[in-house]
Amino acid sequence: MLKGFTRFISDKLSRKAGTEAPQQQILPRSDHPISRSEIHEGALKVLYRLHKSGYEAYLVGGCIRDRLLGKKPKDFDVATNATPEEVRHLFRNSRIIGRRFRIVHVRFGRDIIEVTTFRGQAKTENPAHHKQSDEGMLLRDNVWGSIEEDALRRDFTINALYYNIADFSIYDFAGGLKDLENRQLRLIGDPETRYREDPVRMLRAIRFMAKLDFELEETTATPIREHAELLLQVAPARLFDEVLKLFLSGQALTTFHWLREFHLFEMLFPASHEAFKTNPTSLQVVERALENTDKRIGDERPVTPAFLYAALLWPGLLQIREDLEKRGTPPFPAMQQAGNRLLQRQSQHITIPKRFAFPMREIWDLQLKLPKRHGKQAWHLIQEPRFRAGYDFLLLREAAGENTQGLAAWWTDFQEADEATRQEMVSKLGKPKGKKPRRRRSRSKKPSNT
Ligand code: ATP
Ligand code: MG
Repeated sequence: MLKGFTRFISDKLSRKAGTEAPQQQILPRSDHPISRSEIHEGALKVLYRLHKSGYEAYLVGGCIRDRLLGKKPKDFDVATNATPEEVRHLFRNSRIIGRRFRIVHVRFGRDIIEVTTFRGQAKTENPAHHKQSDEGMLLRDNVWGSIEEDALRRDFTINALYYNIADFSIYDFAGGLKDLENRQLRLIGDPETRYREDPVRMLRAIRFMAKLDFELEETTATPIREHAELLLQVAPARLFDEVLKLFLSGQALTTFHWLREFHLFEMLFPASHEAFKTNPTSLQVVERALENTDKRIGDERPVTPAFLYAALLWPGLLQIREDLEKRGTPPFPAMQQAGNRLLQRQSQHITIPKRFAFPMREIWDLQLKLPKRHGKQAWHLIQEPRFRAGYDFLLLREAAGENTQGLAAWWTDFQEADEATRQEMVSKLGKPKGKKPRRRRSRSKKPSNT
């Protein structure tokens, strides 16, 4: 199907030989492979209701891009000329979200359809609708416009393709079809200005390049290294979601390499970036974790953000811990203090919500607890809710080349062993290292009544 489609595009484009990127192109239904049966039922309902109520309604963005590439879309986004309030009134199951960029979420069971009102060029600087920082960053972008204007305010040409529910045709205002055909990722407009408006677009460039295996067009690629620091202006809470998307794309390892190559990784995880220079094994921990993540996503198994962040931050944590221990802080307090310091620094870059930060720290703590297996401790540890994640993390460290003295193999055996073997395994460990034999307390004499 894809081959037929791309051949069609090539024909169309060759007829336009000699012209620059096509400015506007409309593919009728007969000339593209997107059928309604492949569109999310909820998204279709939204499109039809908007259309019947007299509004324009289009599918836009990743769902069109991915369908044309023969991939399964992650979500379905709708663009319309109805304002958020008008959309809200049409759907009971909806709510308006966002301040910087107001949109409507329409809920269908567990799925959400995002409905966005066409954005336009700000004609006057009314801060209630449009606001930009001195550096050119868009702080608020809620000026409504036409579909043509909307297309040019999107990020990449391949993300600015619209499927019209009125006649099932596809609209291309920015040369996206040609770039899709040539597997090129190209920012719409002047790249530097577009990165200044929203530095997250640099991360999106890397994400799509890795996910789609596209080439980053030169003028889109060039400003990134020089402007990587703009990322420091982005709200840390927004970056948490973006970074998760980067590493949950199924191409986390490739994404990581590109992020480092374009100097973006150091803007997100500065402590890890510094630690890689002196501790190459810690780089391996991150790489193995990302490799596992990709594998799990490929197998459609769940990935927990806490585990991912535990690995991404591990190099920096190790470095601070080692410094503290060298200065005489015992291992457990050193882990606590290192965790606090690292998260304090990290929060200036990425906000890790508590519901993830807490289990992440438990995974770290388990790395100190897992060697302590004497007495009944092994049985207690195995019951801990986070044991499995802690054990997986230990495997990861070992696979990366950290010296864990065969601890992972011991725990693997222990989990599989029967009760008698478990007892034997623990007694073979001998006495806990470094522990002084407990002195028996002399029994106090019973006070005599006499
Ligand atoms: P996917 O959903 O597969 O991650 P997507 O392209 O659909 O990819 P979304 O984050 O769902 O990405 O955004 C939907 C659309 O909104 C994009 O395709 C793009 O047209 C537009 N968009 C999203 N983020 C930006 C941005 N930072 N700047 C400009 N346009 C954006
Ligand atoms: Mg999307």
